[in-house]
Amino acid sequence: MTDTFAARVREMNADAPASAFVEVFGCQQNEHDGELIRGMLADMGFGFTQDAALAKVVVLNTCAVREHAEQRVLGHLGAIGRAGGSPGRIVAVCGCMAQLENSQNTLKRSYGHVNLVFGPGDLARFPELLYTALTKGGRHFNQSDPTAPPEEGLPVLRAAPPRALVTVMKGCDNFCSYCVVPHTRGRERSRAPEAVLGEVRGLIRQGYCEIMLLGQNVNSYRPNPDSAGIRDFPELLAALASLPGDFSLRFMTSHPKDASDKLFSVMGAYGKIAPFLHLPAQSGSSRVLAAMNRGYTREHYIALTERARAAVPGLNLTSDIMVGFPGETEDDFGETLGLLEKVRFNSLFTFIYSPRPETPAANLDGVPPPEVVKKRFARLLETQKRIEATL
Ligand code: SF4
Repeated sequence: MTDTFAARVREMNADAPASAFVEVFGCQQNEHDGELIRGMLADMGFGFTQDAALAKVVVLNTCAVREHAEQRVLGHLGAIGRAGGSPGRIVAVCGCMAQLENSQNTLKRSYGHVNLVFGPGDLARFPELLYTALTKGGRHFNQSDPTAPPEEGLPVLRAAPPRALVTVMKGCDNFCSYCVVPHTRGRERSRAPEAVLGEVRGLIRQGYCEIMLLGQNVNSYRPNPDSAGIRDFPELLAALASLPGDFSLRFMTSHPKDASDKLFSVMGAYGKIAPFLHLPAQSGSSRVLAAMNRGYTREHYIALTERARAAVPGLNLTSDIMVGFPGETEDDFGETLGLLEKVRFNSLFTFIYSPRPETPAANLDGVPPPEVVKKRFARLLETQKRIEATL
């Protein structure tokens, strides 16, 4: 069906190919979805332009992880609206922000030039949705199915080698209390191992030698039991690392509650798996971790990193740390600084808590005052800088 709609749009472009403008915000999963969007647009006969005002189709693949990310998208959308465009232009907003009711209402109310909205689960329907918008006019707001299986066989327009992004699973079932991802990307769905292996084999043949495996929580990878005998992420990783060719594998992201000794031992056993582990701690306080619904304690986290380092020589360990979660006290923050001193991460991604719609944490009291959060954030950065200088 998708092919039928793609063919119809291709026909519309046959005589004079129109141009498309695609802008991607946010994480690597979004980046890869952007490659699929570009792939589908190319397959439908579009060329590409860097100027949204010259494009027949404008696509913003958005991020909703923090309020700041949404504000950036809205800023860009406003500029695109003010710059104007050709009659009949389609301005599409997709990605995480597009799935949230709040954001859809904002787009409906204040961004009248946006005429197509769809969430991350509707990626495979893009040709159909675009065809409808192009031929029927009007405004089309869609809510994607949070249980839709990961799409297979979509055209993809990747950046040139060496690096290629490959999805292994989508969605997240963890419902960390601050996180919008389970509401935007839906439940966990794993790709079949054969599909991932086939894609990576093809990429190696095309000269891609840095393969990045993607999933909101790769350690929750659970394919159907009948496929290829592979039951979990460490087994998939081992199978990929056994493929012939000169390439390396990385993966992102690992949830500490699901990272296992089996994963570490596979990482240590195969030279093709880069000794790199991103293990988001978020906080060093077990009390805050419980309020975040992270499913592990400070002690569990520290023990996990010790086992990972023992199993993977030269491990490069990175993490995410959030400051200013509701109820975070000076003592809690001190525990986070203590965690940094204890674990000595190679680098950190640091964030200030941002309440997100549809998440339980958005209803919690006790967000520390902004000036306190600012000071804690500065201390966090200073501490990490000092540690990194001694590594
Ligand atoms: S594990 Fe938690 S933080 Fe990560 S995507 Fe899932 S809900 Fe969000």
